[in-house]
Amino acid sequence: MSDFKLTIEIRKPSYAQEKTVRNSIPPSLWKTVRTYVQEVNGYKCQICDTYAGESLHAHEVWDYDEEKFLLILKEVQALCRSCHDLKHIHHAALRSKNGTKKNRVMQKLRKHFMRVNKCTEDDFSTHYRNQLAKNDPRPVKRSLEDLIELRELREREEFLRGQEWKFVLEESIPYKQEIASVLNKKGLLYKEEKEG
Ligand SMILES: [Zn+2]
Repeated sequence: MSDFKLTIEIRKPSYAQEKTVRNSIPPSLWKTVRTYVQEVNGYKCQICDTYAGESLHAHEVWDYDEEKFLLILKEVQALCRSCHDLKHIHHAALRSKNGTKKNRVMQKLRKHFMRVNKCTEDDFSTHYRNQLAKNDPRPVKRSLEDLIELRELREREEFLRGQEWKFVLEESIPYKQEIASVLNKKGLLYKEEKEG
């Protein structure tokens, strides 16, 4: 169902909130990374191909290992403002306090989504709803089993939030050595334990 080019990400798991490489390294190093991904992609958005020059955003793509408590940076993508806003639609919608402006922002993003994915408004609504549901697995009608499951989910979340999460950088990350060295000094870098 989701073979859309551009997909919506509602928000990161609660244990990963605020945990970004961008926030963990000096702004100058992040700027170097951003400039690099802009150049490599010819100053075009990697999703919709829009030319955006130096205003292209750098978007961190994550994977999580909930067994080893790892935040795995898979890729840094060059994205245009609209595609990036759709990735963080929650923040984009919250940014505008007043209702009319918020509606305008949402309308603009919906149109962008439909154009990039060549889909209908219904497709957008379905995708949005599905992503929201994934983020908040609370059933509408609650049975006792649902409530137990919900409590277990909450406890698991609480447990995960309390762990010491470490960063892992995939090979392809630009300036991997430089970033790793900063994270390492801060004790934020995962070091593989030697077997045996
Ligand atoms: Zn784009």
